[in-house]
Amino acid sequence: MKFATKAVHAGVQPDPSTGAIMTPIYQTSTYVQESPGKHKGYEYARTQNPTRDALQASLAALENGKHGLCFASGLAAIDTVIKTLNPGDEVIATNDLYGGTYRLFVRVFEKYGIRFKFIPMNDAEAIAAHFTLQTKLLWIETPTNPLLNVIDIQRVCQIAHAHGAKVAVDNTFASPYLQNPLDLGADLVMHSVTKYIAGHSDVVMGALITNDDEWAAQFKFLQNAAGGVPAPMDCFLVLRGIKTLHLRMKAHCENGQVVANFLANHPKVGQVWWPGLPSHPNHAVAASQMRGFGGMMSFTLKNDSVENAIRVMENLELFSLAESLGGVESLCGHPATMTHASIPKEEREKAGLRDSLIRLSVGIEDAQDLCEDLDRALALV
Ligand SMILES: *Cc1c(COP(=O)(O)O)cnc(C)c1O
Repeated sequence: MKFATKAVHAGVQPDPSTGAIMTPIYQTSTYVQESPGKHKGYEYARTQNPTRDALQASLAALENGKHGLCFASGLAAIDTVIKTLNPGDEVIATNDLYGGTYRLFVRVFEKYGIRFKFIPMNDAEAIAAHFTLQTKLLWIETPTNPLLNVIDIQRVCQIAHAHGAKVAVDNTFASPYLQNPLDLGADLVMHSVTKYIAGHSDVVMGALITNDDEWAAQFKFLQNAAGGVPAPMDCFLVLRGIKTLHLRMKAHCENGQVVANFLANHPKVGQVWWPGLPSHPNHAVAASQMRGFGGMMSFTLKNDSVENAIRVMENLELFSLAESLGGVESLCGHPATMTHASIPKEEREKAGLRDSLIRLSVGIEDAQDLCEDLDRALALV
């Protein structure tokens, strides 16, 4: 089945009790048993919920995976993955990671004896030197946030597997429409479903998708044992969002192209980071492993200062100043004080993240209106 058909149909069946074409919101905490232990496969809603089951099957199909599991947030999903490791194990992660992932690794898990190394991975060959016998997991994000670095998934998987480590890919920025890491050799895909998959800025949720039966069983155990599950209403909203994922992503990519070109040619703009621009350092890798370049981009001003960047962000009208990304409406953000404030300034600068950087999540509005909005705000600096 092709992506658009899966987006509309995968995982979803008419409700067996009524024929309702939309999966109902099973807003229940428990299920009645006929006799002790004799039930319809559902015992307690932390463990199983039919609305969640439909969503999990849909997510697995979108990523060409066998097992899909969803969690109360993207971070709850990542938390579940790291809980499968043991004290003494080592994780190698991308150095310009989502701020919350960095915080979870360093401030929560280091005290349980799990070690994290943060390294640049644009040059896949350079990562080999960092593996030790304790390295169990490579955690990558591609494209990265907010500098849109693109990592060669196939190559880093070969290197990690040769060292006996598994590879997890945070595929949030690309969405399953643009990139399927399992097909490129990754062992696990993680999503902040909150972003493109849900797509309407109305849900917080996370997901894990894998073909690894043993790892999936551990995730399922932890989903129930630790309990970071999403609510049935949220599962319903995400199921609804997924039905237009392909249409939204096409629009994000088209608008992304127009806005990136507009910025790249604007006299007030310094540098633009969008993987679709031939000037982007990882453009070739992006073109080979992604089906499009999405709507996420960052830029700096020619007259580069934090004050000017803030002036532009305050004066944009269609781009609302807010955390998050991937919704139908355009957003702008200031990584240094917002999404990446939990990473120390020194670490941020090492990763090339300047305090004057502006990040855009280009929505699906009219591209010309978006460019005019940017033009007006840029005229003020
Ligand atoms: C938002 C985000 C997360 C965290 O997900 P939540 O749903 O906010 O918990 C992780 N990774 C990336 C790339 C994100 O953008």
